[in-house]
Amino acid sequence: MPARVFNFSPGPATLPQEVLLQASKDIVNFNNSGIGLIEMSHRSKDFIAITDETERLLRELMNIPANYKVLFLQGGASTQFAMVPMNLLGPDKTATYLNTGTWSKNAIKEAKLIGKVEVAFDSEGTKFDRLPDNLDFSSANDKEYLYFVSNNTIFGTQFHEFPKTKTTMICDMSSDILSRPVDVSSFGIIFAGAQKNMGTAGCTVVIIRDDLLDLAPATLPTMFKYKTHADKGSMFNTPPCFGIYTVGLVLKWLQAQGGVPAITEINNKKAALVYQAIDATDFYRGHAQKPYRSKMNITFNLPTPELEAKFVKEALAKDLNGLKGHRSVGGIRASIYNAFPLDGVERLVEFMGVFAKQNS
Ligand code: PMP
Repeated sequence: MPARVFNFSPGPATLPQEVLLQASKDIVNFNNSGIGLIEMSHRSKDFIAITDETERLLRELMNIPANYKVLFLQGGASTQFAMVPMNLLGPDKTATYLNTGTWSKNAIKEAKLIGKVEVAFDSEGTKFDRLPDNLDFSSANDKEYLYFVSNNTIFGTQFHEFPKTKTTMICDMSSDILSRPVDVSSFGIIFAGAQKNMGTAGCTVVIIRDDLLDLAPATLPTMFKYKTHADKGSMFNTPPCFGIYTVGLVLKWLQAQGGVPAITEINNKKAALVYQAIDATDFYRGHAQKPYRSKMNITFNLPTPELEAKFVKEALAKDLNGLKGHRSVGGIRASIYNAFPLDGVERLVEFMGVFAKQNS
C-alpha cells in the first residue's frame, strides 16, 4: 500500500485501509473462484451471499425492526428526493419539509413537482447556520409525511434530537448514518447514499417500513416503485454490485470497531477536538451555530479568503487533504466520518494551532 494522506473529503470519502486492501484483492479474484468480484453475476450464489450478509449486518448494527425492508438502489440519494414523493405524495396531498440546506432544498424542488409542500422551518436567510429549536412539529400531523435531513453536509449542522410528529418521518441520513444510535422504528423511510459513511458511490441504502410499500400510484413506472425492489430483494434488475459489496466490507469493519456505540464515542471525541481548536481563538469562526454543530462535517472560516486559501495549501503540505469548504459557504470544511482516523484529527488540530499563531 503506498503512503496515504489524511483525506477530509466530504464524499466520496475516506475508507478504512483494510477495506481497500480486501476490495483490491477481490476485484481480481473473489474467494479464489478465478472470477473477479465485478465480473460476477448478481444472481450467482456468491453474490447473493454477499447481499444477504450486507443486509444482515446493517440490520444488526442499526437494530432494524422486522417490519422494515432494506433496499440497495442506484441513482444516488438525489433520486430519493423524487422517489419519496412519487411513492408517498400526490397532486392533492401535502407533505411538510424542513429546509436546512442544499440537500433539503433540492428535495423540496422535486416534491413540488408531485404534490403540495409546506415548509415548516427555513434557515436559508442565515446561510443555513441553524436548525429548529422547537422540535414540536405537530403541525405536520395531518400531512402525508415530515421530511428532513439529519446532517447538513455542506453547512455543518446536525440534528442532535429529531423532530416530534405523529406523521411518517422521512430522513435523508446520507452524511451521518451509522455514526450514532438511531431508533429506526420512529421513521417511515431512512435513506443514505453510501459514499460517506458506508462505502462507495453508486449504492443508495433505503430502509422502509413495509406499510409504505403499497401507497404508490399504479401509474408509477416500475423502477420508481419501492415495492418493485422490496419484492425482489433489490434484484429486480442488476443492482449496484460493487457498491453493495463495499458496504458489506465497511459494515464488517464497523462491527470489529465495536459497532455504533463504540464509533459514536470516537466520533464525539474527534468532533470535540476540532471544535475546541475553533473556539480556542478568535482566528477561527465556526459557521454552524453551537447547538447544531455537526460531528461529521465541521465548517469554519478564517479572517479572510486569502488566509483560507493559504490554510488549505499549507495543510496539504502536511498531508491534510480536502479541507476546502463547499463553494456555497467558502472557508474550511473538515469531513470526519466514521472511517476518518483520530490521529488525522489530532494532526489537523495541531496544524490549526500553529497556523493561527503564525497568521494572527
Ligand atoms: N443528501 C445529502 C445529505 C448529501 O450530503 C448528498 C451528497 N453530498 C446528497 C443528498 C446527494 O447525494 P447523491 O450525490 O448521492 O445524489
